[in-house]
Amino acid sequence: MATVRFRALDQAYKREAVKVIPPSVKTSDYFGVNVFDLPTMRKYLSKEAYNSVLKAIDKGESIDRKMAGQVAAGMKAWAMSRGANHYTHWFQPLTDATAEKHDAFLCIDPKDGSPFENFDGKLLAQQEPDASSLPSGGIRNTFEARGYTAWDPSSPAFVLGTTLCIPTIFISYKGEALDYKTPLLRALNSVDKAAVSVCNYFDKNVRKVISTLGCEQEFFLIDEALYYARPDLSLTHRTLMGHSSAKDQQLEDHYFGAIPERASAFIQDLEIEGYKVGIPIKTRHNEVAPNQFEVAPIFEEANLATDHNILLMDVMRRVARRHRFKVLLHEKPFAGVNGSGKHNNWSLATDTGVNLLSPGNTPKSNLQFLTFLVNTIKAVHENADLLRASVVSAGNQHRLGANEAPPAIMSVFLGSQISKMLDAIENRVSDRKMSPYEKTELKLDIGRIPEILLDNTDRNRTSPFAFTGNRFEFRAVGSAENCASAITIINAAVAYQLGEFKKDTDRIINKGVKKDEAILQVLRKYITLSKPIRFDKNNYSDEWKKEAERRGLTNISDVPEALKAYVSDKSIKLFEKTNVFSEREIYARYEVKLEMYSKKIQIESRVLGDLAVNHIIPTAIKYQSELIDNVEGLYKIFGDDAKEIGEANIRNIKDISIHISEIKKNTDKMIEARKKANNKDDRASIAAAYSQEVYPFLDKIRYHIDKLELMVNNEIWPLPKYRELLFTR
Ligand code: ADP
Ligand code: MG
Repeated sequence: MATVRFRALDQAYKREAVKVIPPSVKTSDYFGVNVFDLPTMRKYLSKEAYNSVLKAIDKGESIDRKMAGQVAAGMKAWAMSRGANHYTHWFQPLTDATAEKHDAFLCIDPKDGSPFENFDGKLLAQQEPDASSLPSGGIRNTFEARGYTAWDPSSPAFVLGTTLCIPTIFISYKGEALDYKTPLLRALNSVDKAAVSVCNYFDKNVRKVISTLGCEQEFFLIDEALYYARPDLSLTHRTLMGHSSAKDQQLEDHYFGAIPERASAFIQDLEIEGYKVGIPIKTRHNEVAPNQFEVAPIFEEANLATDHNILLMDVMRRVARRHRFKVLLHEKPFAGVNGSGKHNNWSLATDTGVNLLSPGNTPKSNLQFLTFLVNTIKAVHENADLLRASVVSAGNQHRLGANEAPPAIMSVFLGSQISKMLDAIENRVSDRKMSPYEKTELKLDIGRIPEILLDNTDRNRTSPFAFTGNRFEFRAVGSAENCASAITIINAAVAYQLGEFKKDTDRIINKGVKKDEAILQVLRKYITLSKPIRFDKNNYSDEWKKEAERRGLTNISDVPEALKAYVSDKSIKLFEKTNVFSEREIYARYEVKLEMYSKKIQIESRVLGDLAVNHIIPTAIKYQSELIDNVEGLYKIFGDDAKEIGEANIRNIKDISIHISEIKKNTDKMIEARKKANNKDDRASIAAAYSQEVYPFLDKIRYHIDKLELMVNNEIWPLPKYRELLFTR
């Protein structure tokens, strides 16, 4: 009997929605209660200490030891009032999760043995976690093995459970980035500088530009018992086998439907816990696939938004336990139904309150809008390969290029109105002097942008990088990823591009051309140069693949191949210019990503091998033996006529044998391929071998297992089936 499966189903069917009671009807009553935010700091810190934190946030100035001591004392007092008795430096190593090592506030006075709580400036500012087994791409394996965490005052500390969490960067002894946050902060700094100097063409008052980010997080919810009854889900976060359910998402009856009761309770609970730690969750809805959902926050400054997204994923996992759910953040937990993404809504905003990707009310502010729009398009065009590298992974490869999510070809969607506008600039502006009439016409056109955008409702869900009226939406980002990976690259690429724009424009201005005209001339050139990346039609179509090739755009769905873009000469130049990565750092990161990829495929391959040989084949043999008994019985009763009477069963016996032997044969071959891959010399060759030699077996073996699932008696099939995973609510 398939006891594990049926016991799990039994448990799942009996579950009731957990009752969720918010601390108050008004969310604003408890939003951020567990965050050491500015208003709280004002209460707990001296004016001096408070101002030094403000300066650190606004200008990136460092906080001296004495002030750090004061901040630490205030932070400790506040954290204890929120129930904390431990603290941790909370950081984002190059894994899928955050890292934290909790230390108690507790100290013992050596003189008299009395206990007391301690947390000082030194502990706040810097620590040296024993993080020797976190990935470093070889950076820490050299002569200095130490890694340091250092406080990031721009993201506020918070209390989660009974622990005070202090957001930190994670760097090597020599200051090299070992995490996601360090390069992100550098990229944000770089885009700030570059964007401010371009903004100053239009407004001298702009002093600071921040990048904004809102990440829509998709996920699946699966009952805990069913999850644990599927070793593939619990070890790899995706199903490595499973025939599609007769009904899944064909009727599209899940999308935006009423959220099922248990899931709804979970999401409410998630919101409450999220609000307490300051995550501004705004939207929740069902997604396309059954048991798939999405939550989206109000956008924030990118560093904070990234921390909040990572924290959200963590809170999700914690809250799910109470509801007996498992959250699947994997990009493709189920074949045949939609996968999960994390659309990154991105823009730039000034300290004067202007969204630089939102058209304004005057021709001047619209010219500024066009400047940032066109430079972003150009940055994507120039760095399409790098952007792709920032989002590929073992999980996301099932989405990218799989005709249900953004393709592996990068392109930008603008919508017909904006496209027309850019065409008009391209056609009207020229290097010669414009006539006064032309100038007026153009000014009028540019002035009209807000109106045309208001009516411009076209949306394109197939585009990897879409303009959505006042921001770009990078849709290729995977649901399990740290969005810092993608958002670092976007900001770095745009920072670099804005620097080029400034140089190009100043060169023309220095020749005596008026500023606005110089800007338009450069934009016109950029519009022409970046045209190949613009595509407004169906990105899933085969015509686009051909068209993209004609346009010289790359289409790389192989992960190790796509990762190479990180270390191209062009990328290294960009990273050095923007100070985002040194050459050594980016090589280290490249190595880590390759290693991650190989390990994930290795694990999937091992798990599949185990399930195939120890779960599926024995089950199939058992059923086949029943059939054989049956046919033997038929022969006893009917003699030679049994051949005709038992025809269907005889065929099944044969087919089962074929599938079993295919499974066995391919599993053996897969093991061989793995051995070969492991013996390669360098990480790139290992990853390439995993991708090209090992990975294909996963599908080959699965094909035969899924066929068996259709044949074998349901009563003895050991693993919960797709219909059970997707439709148990
Ligand atoms: P949709 O599914 O239609 O794309 P959602 O409401 O699910 O829209 O998500 C839109 C996301 O974009 C939200 O997180 C929102 O806060 C964010 N957003 C809106 N404006 C900006 C902006 N200027 N910069 C960054 N993100 C933004
Ligand atoms: Mg969206």
